[in-house]
Amino acid sequence: MKEEKIIKESIQQVRDVPVIAEYDVVVCGGGPSGFIAAIAAARGGAKVALIERLGFLGGMATASLVAPISVFNYNERRVIDGIPWEFIERLIEIGGAREEKPIGNITFAPEKYKLIAQRMVLEAGVDLYFHSYLTGHKKEGNRISHIIIDNKNGAEAIAGKYFIDCTGDADLSYQAGVEMQPMSSELQPATLIFMLGGVDTDSLPMIRHSKQGVNYHDLDMRKILEDIGSEGKLPGYGGPWYCGVMDNGMVLVNMTRTYANMADNRQATRTECNLREDVFTFLELLKKNVLAFKHAHLIMTAPQTGTRETRRIKGVYTLQGEEYIEARDFPDSISRGCHPVDIHSADSTNQRCQFLKDAAFVPYRCLIAPDFPNLLVGGRAFSADGVSSASVRVQASVMGLGQAAGAAAALCVSSGADVDKVDITKLRSTLMEHGANLTN
Ligand SMILES: Cc1cc2nc3c(=O)[nH]c(=O)nc-3n(C[C@H](O)[C@H](O)[C@H](O)COP(=O)(O)OP(=O)(O)OC[C@H]3O[C@@H](n4cnc5c(N)ncnc54)[C@H](O)[C@@H]3O)c2cc1C
Repeated sequence: MKEEKIIKESIQQVRDVPVIAEYDVVVCGGGPSGFIAAIAAARGGAKVALIERLGFLGGMATASLVAPISVFNYNERRVIDGIPWEFIERLIEIGGAREEKPIGNITFAPEKYKLIAQRMVLEAGVDLYFHSYLTGHKKEGNRISHIIIDNKNGAEAIAGKYFIDCTGDADLSYQAGVEMQPMSSELQPATLIFMLGGVDTDSLPMIRHSKQGVNYHDLDMRKILEDIGSEGKLPGYGGPWYCGVMDNGMVLVNMTRTYANMADNRQATRTECNLREDVFTFLELLKKNVLAFKHAHLIMTAPQTGTRETRRIKGVYTLQGEEYIEARDFPDSISRGCHPVDIHSADSTNQRCQFLKDAAFVPYRCLIAPDFPNLLVGGRAFSADGVSSASVRVQASVMGLGQAAGAAAALCVSSGADVDKVDITKLRSTLMEHGANLTN
């Protein structure tokens, strides 16, 4: 996973950064893991800030139009529960989501997702900092004491007792010097999802994961793409998968793909430009070859290309694929996963799925790093190998990690403990009080 940093020279910059606020818990990143972490910490009694570089919550779900939200159930059994499921219920209540049984995949309306996420965060008493990019930190000994955010006010510092990194790319952990997992060059691909209107949604084969082992991409279109691809040049693609947004006639298309390390700005910039070109190529092919798309028009490309995989921390423990697939339980299990190991290839059209023996477990030790006594990591940057993370990375399970990180941070605030000394029995019982399912 190369970063393309060409350093011509270094300049020194000394600046006074005003400290604008102090919190018990500062959560960086307002994606599925981050906004749930902030709610969990606030409900645990902590004074919480949530930092988000965009002007809305939801991360990949809303900024990259990644749908559906996968998955809450193992077969018929709800496995990811508590605050994440409360969020889904609130969405369903306003007509913003629909559950697909028995797996518990959620089709949702992105704008209603943003609304309910922000309502729940504000109701919990969390202070939101939108349009604020985490750009730095200050340490006192091995404790992070402040983060630096940059926004229209300039650079600002926020003091905190505990920090939760939910940036997806482990931005805070990386900047603070946490060791990262060695990355192979085979990162899962980046994808720019696009939204179409004017679609005959009733006749379109929508994505579903309702049966294990069945892949719901558009098989007919796939065959056409394979034929065209074998004749000449076609941009990289996967699927294609189509997902509704709760409105008739509108659909999200997941099919572009390319290799990119999206945690490197040069690669991310090139990727955005290239995949935008590809969207227009695929749109014409879809209109020509799929009857349901005959009158389709492009509403929008996602504001940001979706990132499946970048940095992950090397935590106190690294979750291994075999034990995860076997559904091994741990004394410090704090969350679950039930999506298959789902690995997309960056240099081909392939997707490799491996199904779990049962609903799996994630231990608390994967959310903390050695010698970082006040840092937790929620979301896809947690400490896992490429196999287990390829399952846990989906939205329901990262919400579960957020819930655990937030609850743990709140307990640390009340006891004053370092994150590696948290009372695990109390943490598990607190999570179960939130509604989490940590038993079979
Ligand atoms: C193409 C694609 C298809 C997928 N398909 C599915 C699917 O079908 N079902 C499913 O459930 N999941 C799917 N996923 C996976 C899922 O969307 C992500 O793994 C999940 O959103 C990760 O959640 P997160 O909270 O860890 O990070 P993110 O969702 O990435 O959220 C991180 C948040 O942090 C913010 N942030 C990042 N850096 C900074 C910074 N420096 N300062 C301030 N804010 C920052 C971001 O703006 C964002 O809001 C897919 C992903 C992709 C890319």
